[in-house]
Amino acid sequence: MRGKSVPAAAPLLNKEQLARYSRQMILGEVGIPGQRRLLDGKVLVVGAGGLGSPVALYLAAAGVGTIGIVDGDRVDLSNLHRQLLHRTRDLGCPKTESAAQTIEEINPGITVVTFPTVLSSANALEILGKFDVVVNGSDNFPTRYLVNDACVLLRRPLVDASVLRWEGQATVYLPGRGCYRCLFPTPPPPGAVPSCAEAGVIGAVAGHMGTIQAIETVKLLLGVGESLANRLLLVDALSGETRTVQWSRNPECPICGDHPTITALIEYEEFCGLPGRPNAPATGGAPDAVAEPVAEVDPHEAALMLEQGAQLIDVREPWEWAASHIPGARLIPVAEVSRRASEIDPNRPVIVQCAVGGRSAGVVEVLRKAGHKRVHNLAGGIIAWTNLGLPTETGPGQG
Ligand SMILES: [Zn+2]
Repeated sequence: MRGKSVPAAAPLLNKEQLARYSRQMILGEVGIPGQRRLLDGKVLVVGAGGLGSPVALYLAAAGVGTIGIVDGDRVDLSNLHRQLLHRTRDLGCPKTESAAQTIEEINPGITVVTFPTVLSSANALEILGKFDVVVNGSDNFPTRYLVNDACVLLRRPLVDASVLRWEGQATVYLPGRGCYRCLFPTPPPPGAVPSCAEAGVIGAVAGHMGTIQAIETVKLLLGVGESLANRLLLVDALSGETRTVQWSRNPECPICGDHPTITALIEYEEFCGLPGRPNAPATGGAPDAVAEPVAEVDPHEAALMLEQGAQLIDVREPWEWAASHIPGARLIPVAEVSRRASEIDPNRPVIVQCAVGGRSAGVVEVLRKAGHKRVHNLAGGIIAWTNLGLPTETGPGQG
Protein backbone atom coordinates (compact mmCIF):
# COMPACT_ATOMS: atom_id res chain seq x y z
CA MET A 1 0.00 0.00 0.00
CA ARG A 2 1.24 3.50 -0.79
CA GLY A 3 1.12 6.58 1.34
CA LYS A 4 0.75 6.90 5.09
CA SER A 5 -1.04 4.16 6.96
CA VAL A 6 -1.78 3.71 10.62
CA PRO A 7 0.16 0.66 11.91
CA ALA A 8 -2.29 -2.10 12.75
CA ALA A 9 -2.31 -2.47 16.55
CA ALA A 10 -3.32 -5.87 17.90
CA PRO A 11 -6.80 -5.69 19.42
CA LEU A 12 -6.89 -6.00 23.22
CA LEU A 13 -9.60 -8.64 23.06
CA ASN A 14 -10.78 -11.03 20.36
CA LYS A 15 -14.40 -11.43 19.27
CA GLU A 16 -15.10 -14.37 21.55
CA GLN A 17 -13.72 -12.48 24.56
CA LEU A 18 -15.73 -9.36 23.70
CA ALA A 19 -18.90 -11.45 23.82
CA ARG A 20 -18.01 -13.68 26.78
CA TYR A 21 -17.10 -10.82 29.11
CA SER A 22 -19.55 -8.23 27.75
CA ARG A 23 -21.77 -8.09 30.84
CA GLN A 24 -18.91 -7.18 33.16
CA MET A 25 -17.12 -4.94 30.65
CA ILE A 26 -20.16 -2.68 30.55
CA LEU A 27 -19.16 -1.55 34.05
CA GLY A 28 -17.11 1.62 34.12
CA GLU A 29 -14.65 -0.02 36.55
CA VAL A 30 -13.90 -2.80 34.05
CA GLY A 31 -14.19 -1.80 30.38
CA ILE A 32 -11.93 -3.33 27.75
CA PRO A 33 -8.67 -2.29 29.49
CA GLY A 34 -9.89 -3.79 32.76
CA GLN A 35 -10.80 -7.05 31.08
CA ARG A 36 -7.33 -7.12 29.56
CA ARG A 37 -5.91 -6.68 33.09
CA LEU A 38 -7.96 -9.64 34.34
CA LEU A 39 -6.78 -11.76 31.41
CA ASP A 40 -3.17 -10.85 32.19
CA GLY A 41 -3.69 -11.58 35.93
CA LYS A 42 -2.15 -14.57 37.70
CA VAL A 43 -3.89 -15.76 40.86
CA LEU A 44 -2.97 -18.70 43.09
CA VAL A 45 -5.75 -20.46 44.98
CA VAL A 46 -4.44 -22.41 47.98
CA GLY A 47 -6.78 -25.34 48.52
CA ALA A 48 -9.45 -26.55 46.07
CA GLY A 49 -12.01 -26.92 48.88
CA GLY A 50 -15.07 -25.11 50.17
CA LEU A 51 -13.50 -21.65 49.82
CA GLY A 52 -11.23 -22.39 46.86
CA SER A 53 -14.13 -23.70 44.78
CA PRO A 54 -16.14 -20.49 44.46
CA VAL A 55 -12.92 -18.49 44.18
CA ALA A 56 -11.65 -20.55 41.26
CA LEU A 57 -15.07 -20.82 39.59
CA TYR A 58 -15.78 -17.07 39.65
CA LEU A 59 -12.24 -16.02 38.72
CA ALA A 60 -12.23 -18.47 35.83
CA ALA A 61 -15.62 -17.31 34.61
CA ALA A 62 -14.49 -13.67 34.89
CA GLY A 63 -11.51 -14.41 32.66
CA VAL A 64 -8.62 -14.20 35.10
CA GLY A 65 -6.05 -15.49 32.64
CA THR A 66 -3.89 -17.74 34.82
CA ILE A 67 -5.25 -19.56 37.84
CA GLY A 68 -2.94 -21.72 39.93
CA ILE A 69 -4.42 -24.36 42.23
CA VAL A 70 -2.41 -26.07 44.92
CA ASP A 71 -3.97 -29.02 46.76
CA GLY A 72 -2.53 -32.39 47.73
CA ASP A 73 -5.84 -34.09 48.53
CA ARG A 74 -8.14 -36.37 46.61
CA VAL A 75 -11.91 -35.89 46.23
CA ASP A 76 -13.89 -37.53 49.05
CA LEU A 77 -17.65 -37.99 49.23
CA SER A 78 -17.78 -35.76 52.32
CA ASN A 79 -16.32 -32.87 50.28
CA LEU A 80 -19.13 -32.60 47.78
CA HIS A 81 -21.71 -30.71 49.84
CA ARG A 82 -19.57 -27.59 49.62
CA GLN A 83 -16.69 -28.07 47.17
CA LEU A 84 -18.41 -27.30 43.90
CA LEU A 85 -15.28 -27.71 41.77
CA HIS A 86 -15.68 -31.47 42.15
CA ARG A 87 -18.38 -33.88 40.96
CA THR A 88 -19.55 -37.29 42.16
CA ARG A 89 -17.72 -38.80 39.18
CA ASP A 90 -14.46 -37.34 40.54
CA LEU A 91 -14.38 -39.37 43.78
CA GLY A 92 -10.83 -40.54 44.46
CA CYS A 93 -9.28 -38.19 41.86
CA PRO A 94 -6.67 -35.61 42.83
CA LYS A 95 -8.60 -32.41 43.55
CA THR A 96 -6.32 -30.41 41.26
CA GLU A 97 -7.37 -32.67 38.36
CA SER A 98 -11.12 -32.36 38.85
CA ALA A 99 -10.74 -28.63 39.53
CA ALA A 100 -8.84 -28.12 36.27
CA GLN A 101 -11.47 -30.09 34.35
CA THR A 102 -14.41 -28.13 35.79
CA ILE A 103 -12.68 -24.82 35.06
CA GLU A 104 -11.88 -25.90 31.50
CA GLU A 105 -15.57 -26.65 30.97
CA ILE A 106 -16.54 -23.19 32.21
CA ASN A 107 -13.85 -21.23 30.40
CA PRO A 108 -11.45 -22.95 28.01
CA GLY A 109 -9.87 -19.57 27.24
CA ILE A 110 -7.80 -19.37 30.42
CA THR A 111 -4.83 -21.31 31.77
CA VAL A 112 -4.98 -23.48 34.88
CA VAL A 113 -1.68 -24.41 36.52
CA THR A 114 -2.02 -27.28 38.99
CA PHE A 115 0.21 -28.18 41.92
CA PRO A 116 -1.00 -31.56 43.24
CA THR A 117 1.05 -31.29 46.40
CA VAL A 118 0.89 -30.19 50.02
CA LEU A 119 2.17 -26.63 50.35
CA SER A 120 5.26 -26.63 52.59
CA SER A 121 8.19 -24.48 53.63
CA ALA A 122 10.19 -26.28 50.94
CA ASN A 123 7.95 -25.34 47.99
CA ALA A 124 5.84 -22.33 49.06
CA LEU A 125 8.12 -19.50 47.91
CA GLU A 126 8.66 -21.07 44.52
CA ILE A 127 4.96 -21.76 43.93
CA LEU A 128 3.57 -18.47 45.34
CA GLY A 129 6.29 -16.46 43.59
CA LYS A 130 4.81 -17.26 40.18
CA PHE A 131 1.56 -15.37 40.95
CA ASP A 132 0.40 -11.75 41.46
CA VAL A 133 -2.26 -12.44 44.11
CA VAL A 134 -2.67 -15.34 46.55
CA VAL A 135 -6.07 -16.48 47.80
CA ASN A 136 -6.08 -18.60 50.93
CA GLY A 137 -8.63 -21.38 51.10
CA SER A 138 -6.69 -23.64 53.45
CA ASP A 139 -8.40 -25.20 56.44
CA ASN A 140 -5.57 -25.56 58.96
CA PHE A 141 -3.38 -23.25 61.01
CA PRO A 142 0.09 -24.42 59.85
CA THR A 143 -0.86 -23.67 56.23
CA ARG A 144 -2.39 -20.31 57.20
CA TYR A 145 0.84 -19.16 58.85
CA LEU A 146 2.93 -20.62 56.04
CA VAL A 147 0.94 -18.85 53.31
CA ASN A 148 0.99 -15.60 55.29
CA ASP A 149 4.73 -15.66 55.86
CA ALA A 150 5.46 -16.57 52.24
CA CYS A 151 3.23 -13.69 51.03
CA VAL A 152 4.98 -11.21 53.36
CA LEU A 153 8.43 -12.37 52.22
CA LEU A 154 7.39 -12.23 48.54
CA ARG A 155 5.38 -9.00 48.98
CA ARG A 156 2.23 -10.54 47.49
CA PRO A 157 -1.32 -9.48 48.45
CA LEU A 158 -3.17 -12.25 50.31
CA VAL A 159 -6.95 -12.56 50.21
CA ASP A 160 -7.92 -14.56 53.29
CA ALA A 161 -11.08 -16.17 54.64
CA SER A 162 -12.15 -18.91 57.00
CA VAL A 163 -15.42 -20.65 57.79
CA LEU A 164 -16.84 -22.84 60.52
CA ARG A 165 -20.39 -23.99 61.16
CA TRP A 166 -22.58 -20.98 60.19
CA GLU A 167 -19.83 -18.35 60.49
CA GLY A 168 -17.22 -16.83 58.24
CA GLN A 169 -14.46 -14.23 58.31
CA ALA A 170 -12.64 -12.49 55.48
CA THR A 171 -9.93 -9.87 55.13
CA VAL A 172 -7.13 -8.79 52.78
CA TYR A 173 -3.46 -8.44 53.67
CA LEU A 174 -1.63 -5.93 51.48
CA PRO A 175 2.18 -5.68 51.53
CA GLY A 176 3.26 -3.09 54.09
CA ARG A 177 -0.20 -2.84 55.69
CA GLY A 178 -0.14 -5.78 58.07
CA CYS A 179 -0.51 -9.53 57.93
CA TYR A 180 -2.22 -12.56 59.49
CA ARG A 181 0.30 -12.53 62.35
CA CYS A 182 -0.66 -8.91 63.18
CA LEU A 183 -4.23 -10.11 63.72
CA PHE A 184 -3.46 -13.56 65.14
CA PRO A 185 0.05 -13.47 66.67
CA THR A 186 -0.03 -16.99 68.05
CA PRO A 187 -1.78 -20.14 66.88
CA PRO A 188 -4.47 -21.54 69.18
CA PRO A 189 -3.47 -24.64 71.19
CA PRO A 190 -4.00 -27.82 69.16
CA GLY A 191 -7.61 -28.95 69.49
CA ALA A 192 -8.88 -25.60 70.84
CA VAL A 193 -10.40 -24.57 67.53
CA PRO A 194 -12.26 -27.41 65.84
CA SER A 195 -11.93 -28.03 62.12
CA CYS A 196 -14.85 -28.24 59.69
CA ALA A 197 -14.39 -32.04 59.80
CA GLU A 198 -15.04 -31.93 63.54
CA ALA A 199 -17.55 -29.10 63.94
CA GLY A 200 -19.14 -28.99 60.50
CA VAL A 201 -19.89 -26.18 58.08
CA ILE A 202 -22.81 -25.08 55.94
CA GLY A 203 -21.75 -25.38 52.30
CA ALA A 204 -23.36 -22.11 51.28
CA VAL A 205 -21.45 -20.28 54.04
CA ALA A 206 -18.17 -21.49 52.51
CA GLY A 207 -19.59 -20.47 49.12
CA HIS A 208 -20.47 -17.01 50.47
CA MET A 209 -17.04 -16.34 51.98
CA GLY A 210 -15.21 -17.76 48.93
CA THR A 211 -17.30 -15.53 46.69
CA ILE A 212 -16.25 -12.52 48.79
CA GLN A 213 -12.63 -13.60 48.25
CA ALA A 214 -13.27 -13.74 44.49
CA ILE A 215 -14.75 -10.22 44.57
CA GLU A 216 -11.76 -8.87 46.54
CA THR A 217 -9.37 -10.50 44.07
CA VAL A 218 -11.14 -8.97 41.07
CA LYS A 219 -10.97 -5.54 42.78
CA LEU A 220 -7.23 -5.96 43.42
CA LEU A 221 -6.52 -6.99 39.82
CA LEU A 222 -8.58 -4.08 38.46
CA GLY A 223 -7.23 -1.62 41.05
CA VAL A 224 -10.72 -0.37 41.91
CA GLY A 225 -12.87 0.10 45.00
CA GLU A 226 -12.02 -0.18 48.68
CA SER A 227 -10.41 -3.49 49.50
CA LEU A 228 -11.08 -5.29 52.76
CA ALA A 229 -7.47 -4.55 53.73
CA ASN A 230 -7.27 -3.66 57.45
CA ARG A 231 -10.90 -4.64 57.92
CA LEU A 232 -12.06 -8.03 59.14
CA LEU A 233 -15.49 -8.95 57.80
CA LEU A 234 -17.46 -11.17 60.18
CA VAL A 235 -20.50 -13.02 58.89
CA ASP A 236 -22.93 -14.86 61.16
CA ALA A 237 -25.21 -16.57 58.71
CA LEU A 238 -27.44 -18.11 61.37
CA SER A 239 -28.49 -14.69 62.70
CA GLY A 240 -28.09 -12.96 59.36
CA GLU A 241 -25.73 -10.40 60.92
CA THR A 242 -22.62 -9.00 59.23
CA ARG A 243 -20.11 -6.57 60.69
CA THR A 244 -16.58 -5.33 60.04
CA VAL A 245 -13.83 -4.74 62.57
CA GLN A 246 -10.89 -2.43 61.85
CA TRP A 247 -7.41 -3.79 62.42
CA SER A 248 -3.98 -2.32 61.78
CA ARG A 249 -0.43 -3.45 61.23
CA ASN A 250 1.42 -4.34 64.42
CA PRO A 251 4.84 -2.62 64.46
CA GLU A 252 6.00 -5.46 66.75
CA CYS A 253 4.86 -8.18 64.30
CA PRO A 254 7.63 -10.77 64.05
CA ILE A 255 7.48 -10.88 60.24
CA CYS A 256 6.00 -7.61 58.92
CA GLY A 257 6.86 -5.34 61.88
CA ASP A 258 9.60 -2.73 62.13
CA HIS A 259 12.20 -5.22 63.38
CA PRO A 260 11.26 -8.59 61.95
CA THR A 261 12.70 -11.69 63.60
CA ILE A 262 11.31 -14.10 61.03
CA THR A 263 13.21 -13.65 57.78
CA ALA A 264 12.68 -17.07 56.21
CA LEU A 265 10.01 -19.75 56.31
CA ILE A 266 9.97 -21.89 59.46
CA GLU A 267 8.55 -25.28 60.51
CA TYR A 268 4.83 -24.55 60.74
CA GLU A 269 3.56 -27.85 62.16
CA GLU A 270 5.95 -27.41 65.05
CA PHE A 271 5.06 -23.71 65.42
CA CYS A 272 1.40 -24.72 65.77
CA GLY A 273 2.28 -27.38 68.35
CA LEU A 274 1.49 -30.29 66.07
CA PRO A 275 3.57 -33.37 65.33
CA GLY A 276 4.92 -33.45 61.76
CA ARG A 277 2.52 -34.29 58.97
CA PRO A 278 2.18 -38.08 58.96
CA ASN A 279 2.23 -38.32 55.18
CA ALA A 280 5.02 -35.81 54.62
CA PRO A 281 7.90 -37.20 52.62
CA ALA A 282 10.86 -38.08 54.81
CA THR A 283 13.58 -35.47 54.68
CA GLY A 284 16.59 -37.73 55.02
CA GLY A 285 17.50 -40.45 57.46
CA ALA A 286 16.50 -44.09 57.27
CA PRO A 287 12.88 -44.73 56.32
CA ASP A 288 10.70 -46.06 59.12
CA ALA A 289 9.71 -49.69 59.03
CA VAL A 290 6.42 -50.13 57.20
CA ALA A 291 3.75 -49.36 59.79
CA GLU A 292 1.21 -52.06 60.58
CA PRO A 293 -2.27 -51.07 59.50
CA VAL A 294 -4.41 -49.73 62.33
CA ALA A 295 -6.61 -52.54 63.67
CA GLU A 296 -10.20 -51.42 63.17
CA VAL A 297 -13.34 -52.74 64.79
CA ASP A 298 -16.84 -51.94 63.61
CA PRO A 299 -19.43 -50.64 66.10
CA HIS A 300 -20.99 -54.09 66.73
CA GLU A 301 -17.58 -55.68 67.40
CA ALA A 302 -16.73 -52.74 69.64
CA ALA A 303 -19.97 -53.12 71.62
CA LEU A 304 -19.17 -56.81 72.17
CA MET A 305 -15.61 -56.03 73.28
CA LEU A 306 -16.91 -53.41 75.73
CA GLU A 307 -19.25 -55.99 77.26
CA GLN A 308 -16.22 -58.24 77.68
CA GLY A 309 -14.22 -55.60 79.55
CA ALA A 310 -12.43 -53.52 76.89
CA GLN A 311 -11.82 -49.83 77.65
CA LEU A 312 -13.20 -47.14 75.35
CA ILE A 313 -11.17 -43.93 75.04
CA ASP A 314 -12.96 -40.98 73.40
CA VAL A 315 -10.30 -38.60 72.04
CA ARG A 316 -12.61 -35.80 70.91
CA GLU A 317 -12.92 -32.39 72.56
CA PRO A 318 -15.13 -31.77 75.65
CA TRP A 319 -17.76 -29.85 73.68
CA GLU A 320 -18.13 -32.80 71.30
CA TRP A 321 -18.38 -35.16 74.29
CA ALA A 322 -21.09 -33.01 75.86
CA ALA A 323 -23.21 -33.21 72.70
CA SER A 324 -23.13 -37.01 72.61
CA HIS A 325 -20.89 -39.84 73.81
CA ILE A 326 -20.87 -43.60 74.17
CA PRO A 327 -21.80 -44.85 77.66
CA GLY A 328 -18.78 -46.12 79.56
CA ALA A 329 -16.24 -44.17 77.49
CA ARG A 330 -13.45 -42.14 79.09
CA LEU A 331 -12.77 -38.68 77.61
CA ILE A 332 -9.10 -37.98 76.90
CA PRO A 333 -8.82 -35.28 74.18
CA VAL A 334 -6.10 -35.91 71.57
CA ALA A 335 -3.84 -33.18 72.95
CA GLU A 336 -3.91 -34.79 76.43
CA VAL A 337 -3.25 -38.38 75.40
CA SER A 338 0.53 -38.30 75.99
CA ARG A 339 0.17 -36.69 79.42
CA ARG A 340 -2.69 -38.95 80.55
CA ALA A 341 -1.50 -42.24 79.00
CA SER A 342 -1.18 -43.74 82.50
CA GLU A 343 -4.99 -43.62 82.82
CA ILE A 344 -5.19 -46.34 80.17
CA ASP A 345 -4.85 -49.86 81.61
CA PRO A 346 -2.17 -51.71 79.58
CA ASN A 347 -3.62 -55.08 80.59
CA ARG A 348 -7.05 -54.64 78.99
CA PRO A 349 -7.93 -54.21 75.31
CA VAL A 350 -8.36 -50.57 74.25
CA ILE A 351 -10.77 -49.11 71.71
CA VAL A 352 -10.05 -45.54 70.64
CA GLN A 353 -12.86 -43.46 69.20
CA CYS A 354 -13.47 -39.97 67.82
CA ALA A 355 -16.16 -38.49 65.54
CA VAL A 356 -15.46 -40.40 62.33
CA GLY A 357 -12.27 -42.37 63.02
CA GLY A 358 -9.52 -40.05 61.81
CA ARG A 359 -8.13 -38.55 65.01
CA SER A 360 -8.51 -41.86 66.82
CA ALA A 361 -6.44 -43.69 64.19
CA GLY A 362 -3.53 -41.37 65.03
CA VAL A 363 -3.95 -42.06 68.75
CA VAL A 364 -3.96 -45.82 68.12
CA GLU A 365 -0.54 -45.40 66.50
CA VAL A 366 0.72 -43.38 69.47
CA LEU A 367 -0.49 -45.96 72.01
CA ARG A 368 1.01 -48.80 70.03
CA LYS A 369 4.37 -47.06 69.92
CA ALA A 370 4.04 -46.56 73.67
CA GLY A 371 3.80 -50.34 74.08
CA HIS A 372 0.05 -51.03 74.19
CA LYS A 373 -0.50 -54.32 72.39
CA ARG A 374 -4.28 -54.64 72.01
CA VAL A 375 -5.38 -51.23 70.66
CA HIS A 376 -8.19 -50.86 68.14
CA ASN A 377 -9.74 -47.98 66.24
CA LEU A 378 -13.52 -47.66 66.16
CA ALA A 379 -14.20 -47.52 62.40
CA GLY A 380 -16.44 -44.57 61.53
CA GLY A 381 -16.32 -43.23 65.10
CA ILE A 382 -19.39 -42.22 67.06
CA ILE A 383 -21.17 -41.30 63.81
CA ALA A 384 -21.13 -44.94 62.64
CA TRP A 385 -22.06 -46.08 66.17
CA THR A 386 -25.07 -43.73 66.30
CA ASN A 387 -26.10 -44.62 62.76
CA LEU A 388 -26.52 -48.27 63.83
CA GLY A 389 -28.85 -47.21 66.62
CA LEU A 390 -26.39 -48.14 69.39
CA PRO A 391 -26.88 -46.20 72.65
CA THR A 392 -25.37 -42.78 73.37
CA GLU A 393 -25.80 -40.29 76.17
CA THR A 394 -25.46 -36.51 76.41
CA GLY A 395 -24.17 -34.09 79.01
CA PRO A 396 -20.81 -33.78 80.74
CA GLY A 397 -21.07 -37.23 82.37
CA GLN A 398 -17.92 -39.09 83.34
CA GLY A 399 -14.80 -37.67 81.78
ZN1 LIG B 1 2.28 -8.76 60.52
